[in-house]
Amino acid sequence: MDNAIFRFPKPINEPVKAYAPGSSEKASLKKALAQISSEEWDIPLVIGGKEIRTGNTGKVVMPHDHHHVLATYHKAGEKEVQMAIDAAMKAHKEWSELPWVERASIMLRVAELLATKYRYILNASVMLGQSKNPFQAEIDAPCELIDFLRFSTFYASQVYADQPYSETGILNRMEYRALEGFVFSLTPFNFTSIASNLNMAPAMMGNVAVWKPSTTAIHSNYFLMKVFQEAGLPDGVVNFIPGQGSVITGSRDLAGFHFTGSTSTFNTLWRQIGENLGHYKSYPKIVGETGGKNFIFAHPSAPALDVATAIVRGAFEYQGQKCSAGSRAYIPASLWKEVKDYVGDMLKEIKMGDVQDFTNFVNAVIDEASFDNIMSYIDYAKQSPDAEVLFGGNGDKSVGYFVEPTVIQTTDPMFKSMVEEIFGPVITIYVYDDAKYEETLELCDRTSPYGLTGSIFARDRYAIDKAFNTLRYSAGNFYINDKPTGAVIAQQPFGGSRASGTNDKAGGPLNLIRWTNPRCIKECLVPPTSYGYPFLGEK
Ligand code: NAD
Repeated sequence: MDNAIFRFPKPINEPVKAYAPGSSEKASLKKALAQISSEEWDIPLVIGGKEIRTGNTGKVVMPHDHHHVLATYHKAGEKEVQMAIDAAMKAHKEWSELPWVERASIMLRVAELLATKYRYILNASVMLGQSKNPFQAEIDAPCELIDFLRFSTFYASQVYADQPYSETGILNRMEYRALEGFVFSLTPFNFTSIASNLNMAPAMMGNVAVWKPSTTAIHSNYFLMKVFQEAGLPDGVVNFIPGQGSVITGSRDLAGFHFTGSTSTFNTLWRQIGENLGHYKSYPKIVGETGGKNFIFAHPSAPALDVATAIVRGAFEYQGQKCSAGSRAYIPASLWKEVKDYVGDMLKEIKMGDVQDFTNFVNAVIDEASFDNIMSYIDYAKQSPDAEVLFGGNGDKSVGYFVEPTVIQTTDPMFKSMVEEIFGPVITIYVYDDAKYEETLELCDRTSPYGLTGSIFARDRYAIDKAFNTLRYSAGNFYINDKPTGAVIAQQPFGGSRASGTNDKAGGPLNLIRWTNPRCIKECLVPPTSYGYPFLGEK
């Protein structure tokens, strides 16, 4: 149909709107917030393009006002999960054989709809359903989500253009087939952009998906599903099934597992896949980005204000619920008093509350289980002789799940909250002796099982170089004189190793290539007509 050799141009990142007082975007967002908060959606499953209501329902509430119901959603049972797999497999042939430029056009159409017509509704849905302030919602969805889609078309054109060399008389080609089966995408609550990408990156490469969204992000995730459909994503390419999704890994047609979430969930699912190995048609490709215990490490030459700002932004934005959030810091004794005073001053100014009040920097954590888990770490610190809660330390779940930004100081570098992921607004500080910079770097490297993000703050370039080398495997995203959060698509390809995942760098060509099943084709232009070789001519 389309015989153009098409190269999508390199996109630029979607500009982030500021929502400053008096701006037109603020007025538009306020209107969208009023609209979403006055509605109560009924969220069905979407299988093969059809809405299905099972009657087995749950409620979607605002984390910062949990009496306010935003939606009722229907849960998939085993029957619907099988229907979703069947629908995906039915869509497989046509979708995977469609010229890739047509698939890319759908990606760009979704991006454009979200950048224009639905920008504020999407942002409001993320703010209200996942308790993000306007800026945090803006950088997630729309902006990062749009970037994922636009850059995937650009990187896909690079993947497809990468072709083998051909010697004279031979023609070699590489066909980047879709996987032979469906991709199971299991998505987290904290980034709507990731929920989209775990489906759309495989779909870009011709795959079909069964999508089990996070229960606490269903509002924005369902909205996305509707936009995918409006943009012309054919029925069955992505199938939306809130609920447990338990029988998916048992399907013979499981060809890929695309996951972002906690390390323990990833381990559970990888084990399930391992147990079914003999049953699958192909080895399922497994890509998972998981937890972190991200560090901020200051050298004595670092400016205290820079370090304090990185702590406050890195640990407390989106209530510390970013996989990249700073949650342990190593501060030299000579800098500590100044850093502590700056952090204290900033925390005095920070307000916490409802997302609809734009003066709030901090909002609620995602749900009650998360609130209880975070408070259990804070209570543990309060009771321990090895730790002291310096700032914050209180929580209140009566209206919303609010946890104060909390700074713990410990004298034990292996203290529980220095080692384990908490996923809340809590950072633990270990103050080290200035003379022990190098050994403290080594301590930082071996303290936690994760390897996601980390920052080094220093003016001394030798110190930076030392950290760069000692912490080589401590972080897949390593920051110099910057907070460890805020990676931007195509600028800081994101992902970590160790217990933080398979490090396939979401949003880039390394990830896209995982969703292909390459077939190499060799054609001989003039085939030989005799079987012999010259060496046979003499003894
Ligand atoms: P989670 O592991 O609790 O849930 C992820 C998804 O798995 C959800 O859809 C959930 O419903 C589902 N799930 C949970 N247990 C399951 C089970 N036993 N069987 C089948 N499905 C199951 O994670 P979360 O709370 O949504 O997200 C927070 C976690 O995600 C944190 O650990 C964070 O570090 C991580 N994260 C990592 C990255 C990254 O890029 N490395 C990005 C975002 C979030």
